[in-house]
Amino acid sequence: MAVDASEPLMRWFAVDKRRLPWRTLPGEPVDPYRIWLSEVMLQQTTVAAVRPYFETFTRRWPTVEALATAPEAEVMAAWAGLGYYARARNLVACALAVAGEHGGRFPDSEEALRKLPGIGRYTAAAIAAIAFGRRAVVVDANVERVVSRLFAVEEALPGSRETLYRLADTLTPAEGAGDFAQALMDLGSMICTPRLPDCPRCPLAGACAARAQGAPERYPLKAAKKPKPRRAGTAYWLEHDGRVLLVRRPPKGLLGGMLALPEEEPADADWSEAGAVEHVFTHFALTMRLLCAKTEAAGDGLWHPIDRLGEAGLPTLFARLAMRGAEWRTQSPLPLRNAQVNRAPRGSALSGGQGDLRMEGPAARRWEGEGTAPASEPLISEQSHSLTLPAFGWAPPSPEMGKGS
Ligand code: SF4
Repeated sequence: MAVDASEPLMRWFAVDKRRLPWRTLPGEPVDPYRIWLSEVMLQQTTVAAVRPYFETFTRRWPTVEALATAPEAEVMAAWAGLGYYARARNLVACALAVAGEHGGRFPDSEEALRKLPGIGRYTAAAIAAIAFGRRAVVVDANVERVVSRLFAVEEALPGSRETLYRLADTLTPAEGAGDFAQALMDLGSMICTPRLPDCPRCPLAGACAARAQGAPERYPLKAAKKPKPRRAGTAYWLEHDGRVLLVRRPPKGLLGGMLALPEEEPADADWSEAGAVEHVFTHFALTMRLLCAKTEAAGDGLWHPIDRLGEAGLPTLFARLAMRGAEWRTQSPLPLRNAQVNRAPRGSALSGGQGDLRMEGPAARRWEGEGTAPASEPLISEQSHSLTLPAFGWAPPSPEMGKGS
């Protein structure tokens, strides 16, 4: 079935499009740097979660050359809480490549963009279409949903991705592919939503096969998800004179290069149990318990002032654990004698662990985020969480599930 989506969709978009900080007004020049930055940030997360990060990044590093000169640790700290930390490392690598090899200008073709670090099929198409006006087929989770409904695709995700891409290709106009892609994303975010599509307000209602069948929310079909494995680990809050011991994680691997609480017992101390945090990563769910102690003898290490922990750039998992540590400080805990503490397994639960690491059955929780990275851009990340750390004067943004450009 041929569907002419472009004209009614663009009429609707001209009036109802979302106002987003990386979008320009008609007639204003588009800055490829801002488009690239927003697209990288929006992978696997939401517009609401991204807004404050985008504003911080563009204020601190207004050009790709400025970002290329930033120390990686500073960029990682500014990214903290947004998750998918491999993207932050690729962000720096990509900025260095654009500044060093392309004279500070992003290449304007999908093919050349895909050669840059961290840019896969989706991101290359989005930059080529939105920033450079190239005809490119831009398919994110919102577009997948709209297209699967328009054509009532009976194949299930993720196996249907190529089919959906081909169908999106048939819809994409020769001119204005960037606006068309953003219009489809907005439609998916605002009207063709996962659970309650507002078909009476939809500019494509007359051409929609799923609507004609009477159950559009049935699409896209999804293959049953495999349960996530569960891991368990221990983190340590060791305090001395108003400071807490942090470690810098190895540069490669999960949360690579980020500051964190130690996962290995850092000292012989009277440890107290301070509860546990449940956290969901892309490929596993984690229960991380926290042991806390004070020490009179601060050894070598990175001792960070507790009242300035909000500036440390802790990733969400460790920020949540730090919040437990802050609660523990206020509760005058009774230390357990060493013998009473259930000794922690050796090895990092994040890196897959060694020796005693426990792997348990199905994950109790399932991430129901709508944003999905294209299969060509595999990601390992933590799920973003809403939390406040009043003791540190820091409140990471509360993410809203659903992705858009
Ligand atoms: S008619 Fe309904 S199901 Fe079809 S594209 Fe529009 S909002 Fe989605």
